[in-house]
Amino acid sequence: MSDHPALHAAAKTGAPVLCLFVVDDTAGRAPGAATRWWLAQSLRSLGAAIAARGGSLVLRKGPAAKVIGEFARESGARAVYWNEIAQAPHRAVESQLAAMLARLGIGSQSFPGDLLVPPSVIRTKDGRGLRVFTPFWRRLLSLGDPPKPLPAPKQLRPAPNIAGDVLESWRLEPSKPDWAGGLREAWTPGEASARARLRDFLSHTVRRYVGDRDRPDRDGTSGLSPHLRFGELSPRQIWHAARFATDDDPALGPGIAKFLSELGWREFCRHLLHDHPNLATANLQTNFDGFPWKRDAKALAAWQRGRTGYPIVDAGLRELWHTGVMHNRVRMVVASFLVKHLLIDWREGEAWFWDTLVDADAGSNPANWQWVAGCGADAAPYFRVFNPQLQGEKFDPDGTYVRRWVPELEDMPARLIHRPWQATPIELASAGITLGKTYPQPIVDHAKGRERALAAYTTIRKG
Ligand code: FAD
Repeated sequence: MSDHPALHAAAKTGAPVLCLFVVDDTAGRAPGAATRWWLAQSLRSLGAAIAARGGSLVLRKGPAAKVIGEFARESGARAVYWNEIAQAPHRAVESQLAAMLARLGIGSQSFPGDLLVPPSVIRTKDGRGLRVFTPFWRRLLSLGDPPKPLPAPKQLRPAPNIAGDVLESWRLEPSKPDWAGGLREAWTPGEASARARLRDFLSHTVRRYVGDRDRPDRDGTSGLSPHLRFGELSPRQIWHAARFATDDDPALGPGIAKFLSELGWREFCRHLLHDHPNLATANLQTNFDGFPWKRDAKALAAWQRGRTGYPIVDAGLRELWHTGVMHNRVRMVVASFLVKHLLIDWREGEAWFWDTLVDADAGSNPANWQWVAGCGADAAPYFRVFNPQLQGEKFDPDGTYVRRWVPELEDMPARLIHRPWQATPIELASAGITLGKTYPQPIVDHAKGRERALAAYTTIRKG
């Protein structure tokens, strides 16, 4: 409810306020299973917060412009307020809605959404969006601080009751089977929990952020991405809280600067999505259109289940399945493994993440997949092929992360945990491992996989 410009403006009018949440299956991408689970929890928490201030949250389903127009008429609303979403399908809904409300003689007003800066502000001289992060970030910083976040309204004037859907009828949560136990264990969706996480991060973790943010074996990042994804915390709130923390303690400066630049990547991805609505389906670099991807259902399934035989890759994919997130460093490693070692189309990996991540984001997910695959804006060069063993040894040196998510390797000594295939039969036996039985052999040899990836890349470079 806080830093919600539309709600803030509506409450300020002093008129009765009705809050409406619409699920529109016809606009944008259908949400994945993990985000549906989060949405249910988030709506419960939001409904309770609105009720505590005297208001009510009504749920409806259907084409958004039509549903909102009907709702406005039914309730006798004088005006409709909303926050903008800078994505093509939502922009289309917003202009339809504005036109419909005008026809009905109902006022309407839209407000900035969940970005630091609207995409229209950061453009090249000829009006295009920036495709390289560093100049984008410099430009954003040169604009100064974003507007200060708005407080949540203290009170909402109650409006007459209007019927809506019962949340459970939307069937957002899994029941048979109920696979969400790991998500419940890992997360408490909602604004209060988001604020607590931010406070905790700025009081403790940020001190170690520069050194620890790449370490999946440490609790070194904010864990704010799903809260941001669902608007439980806005980037403006994070920005100002972080600035305030540095004013208080200048020693936090480097950690805060790095953290804010990560928030800048979120912004960059959203701006890219604004300019490239097909970000999840079309290569930004079109020379990749002829890339010789392999169709390999067996390898894809082994990757999805965390059974590739590369411990850091398997740990990441199992962490994802259990908690709905994966450490950023490991996201890069598993994504690189899929598109380079297995030569599987990045869109397959992106779709898996979309379904299983609680922070699955229409901008950040495809933009990062394209970045790893080498076909994106400001992309990692294709010939940079991560070696999963070395990545594991560097960023999880004691194997703590692998042991947490791949318990069958628990008793492996640290020096072998990222390369069990090189252990002697005696070493394997004393760790209780039978390769190929209790833990898989690598599904592809690193050196061969790398060579094959580079050869495939050569075909499009020539073409
Ligand atoms: P922190 O390190 O605390 O960073 C703070 C915030 O900055 C994050 O919450 C996030 O909003 C933003 N951020 C950090 N890194 C990135 C990045 N590379 N790109 C965009 N924003 C970033 N992030 C998502 O929010 N949703 C996704 O669907 C998503 N898919 C990804 C797919 C791949 C293949 C890769 C490599 C990265 C993806 N990321 C995605 C980015 C990143 O992994 C997560 O944002 C990060 O792990 C979230 O953890 P945190 O909140 O603790 O991050």
